[in-house]
Amino acid sequence: EIRTRIAPSPTGMMHLGTARTAIYCWAVARHFGGKFLLRIEDTDQVRSTQEAVQVILDGMRWLNLDYDEGPIYQMDRLDRYKEVVDEMLKDGRAYYCYATPEELNEMREAQKAQGLKPRYDGRWRPENCVGKPIPEGVQPVVRFRNPDNGAVTWNDAVYGPITVSNAELDDLIIMRNGIPTYNFAVVVDDWDMKVSHVIRGADHINNTPRQINIYTALGAEVPVFAHLPLINGQDGQKLSKRHGTVSVLEYERQGYLPEAIFNYLARLGWGHGNMEKFTRDELAKVFELADCSRAAARIDWKKLEWLNGQYMKEADDERLATLVAPRIEARGGKVEGGPCLKQVCGLLKNRATTLEKLAENALFFYVEPKVDAEQAAAALADGGREALALFGEKLGKLADMTPEAVYGIIQEVMAEREIGMKILATPLRVCVCAAERTPQIDVTLCLIGKDEVLKRIAATLG
Ligand code: GLU
Repeated sequence: EIRTRIAPSPTGMMHLGTARTAIYCWAVARHFGGKFLLRIEDTDQVRSTQEAVQVILDGMRWLNLDYDEGPIYQMDRLDRYKEVVDEMLKDGRAYYCYATPEELNEMREAQKAQGLKPRYDGRWRPENCVGKPIPEGVQPVVRFRNPDNGAVTWNDAVYGPITVSNAELDDLIIMRNGIPTYNFAVVVDDWDMKVSHVIRGADHINNTPRQINIYTALGAEVPVFAHLPLINGQDGQKLSKRHGTVSVLEYERQGYLPEAIFNYLARLGWGHGNMEKFTRDELAKVFELADCSRAAARIDWKKLEWLNGQYMKEADDERLATLVAPRIEARGGKVEGGPCLKQVCGLLKNRATTLEKLAENALFFYVEPKVDAEQAAAALADGGREALALFGEKLGKLADMTPEAVYGIIQEVMAEREIGMKILATPLRVCVCAAERTPQIDVTLCLIGKDEVLKRIAATLG
């Protein structure tokens, strides 16, 4: 069975890179009809936060990344890691190391002075400390006995074959104060959870040979590894602090639709023919790790916003209304009792690239417009005032306010006052809507409603 997992550490925020990895893990599992797991790697007691866990859970839900198992918390599995460590200690696959931090520091300094790469020298390997007294008061760590000779090779599903010599590796710490280290816990977990494909960021490539050695020591089957190139900013540089560390939910706050972020991230570093815009299910159907790029991806924020706009156009009006309502309220608008937001969204969605912009554009339907005095004076000059007054008079008599009827009285005003459309449309736009741009004015006025339009005209004319 194909089994993948996303295994975020709740130390920073779940950012775009993690979200993209999650999408690929999800897509591989779904492609093969396998399982997708969520595992929270919370063994870093100091840096893990409940808030970060919540962002992971919310982010997965927001992106609609359904998982079949989990969330599984590593801190719930301490007994299991201990059990495996004890087995390894029994036959020398692991050993206690009593070296103090100061001592190790000295060792590394000495190595550096000799032009060597710092590397634990195995001083507490059983054969190296025969007769050596165990220092008092030192809490030992457990180290994995890495093979001395040979090399580790794996065929990375993205990068192809990679070989690392064991001479490059040292005996890494696998447990400290009863808490497993990342490289150890991840292996025990992926083994226990029968993960078949480990898909993760290329920043973990260095850990992979160490982990493979642990798999081998445990007699466990080594999974397929796939490392994904990092995501860079628009300038090709590492994602800036601003973008690199923000949570995926920040994009929700900024008014992006989850399907747009999903689509954009999926395309970032993966491609299939000329497939640009697709649903989750379409992605799952064609997704293959072999189609992932080995080059770092570059985020193009403009393109992301454009893509979001495309999804906005297609989005269901009712759904948009639900998403936009709180954003209008946050701007001081009162949605309840106001014009039908679903219709307003339908009218405006083609021109807004984010929900925030849609809320901004829709605001004049839900607040008393703040009319710019100077603009109003200009709009009312040269016949604007009279045209608006006549329009108001006719609207007041209208029994049934429909776009057609409003269009009709606009035509009447133009004919009776012998003016062009602009003379009337400008005060309607500036004084009644107080908006730079409005959708078709007859439809817009109907949505605002007769009483409200008359009220705003009266306020304008004084
Ligand atoms: N906890 C690791 C991280 O967040 C997971 C790496 C892995 O997938 O093995 O980077």
